[in-house]
Amino acid sequence: MKLEAKILNGLERLSEALKSLLWEQAKLYGISPIQIQILLFVHNHKTEICNVSYLAKEFNVTKATVSDAVRILLKKEFLEKDLSPTDNRRYNLIVTTGGKELVQRLSTYALPVSEELARFDEQELSGIFDTLSKLIFQLNQRGVIQVQRTCFNCKYYQGDQKNSHYCKLLESPLKQQEIRLDCGEFEEKAVG
Ligand code: SF4
Repeated sequence: MKLEAKILNGLERLSEALKSLLWEQAKLYGISPIQIQILLFVHNHKTEICNVSYLAKEFNVTKATVSDAVRILLKKEFLEKDLSPTDNRRYNLIVTTGGKELVQRLSTYALPVSEELARFDEQELSGIFDTLSKLIFQLNQRGVIQVQRTCFNCKYYQGDQKNSHYCKLLESPLKQQEIRLDCGEFEEKAVG
């Protein structure tokens, strides 16, 4: 088997492991994995992007799937609407106090994976991170991953994507391990 195929196989198994850990939490708290993913996303990102359209792209699912999940999260009072001042059909989502408590309990769902990663030394972790960040960027360029908020796709990034990285917003060089995969300050680079 070629090395690429073995790596692919490994990524599939890791993805299954993460899904199964998420499922365990879902069963424990009586909500579905997509509802957990939405709740965690809204908790960890700025309100401007927390709407049905963006979430559908983020999780590669239909708007109808997101709308159903959001309806239940609103009903269970884990999320609430932040209505647009000009158009009350448009809204973003924010996490309620009850939602924050649930996020706190859910935040350790991937703990077994984090603990195993912590066994690698700094150089090994840096190599894994380097490869993953480039793979995510390349897959975004091909349209396989629809949304990414990484340095390589950000208007503030300057560099060669290999050895030299600089953030114009932070006005600072970035080490390889400081490249962000999900940056709160990310702004998409104009195409062309
Ligand atoms: S703003 Fe964030 S994503 Fe953009 S280059 Fe700076 S650190 Fe990277």
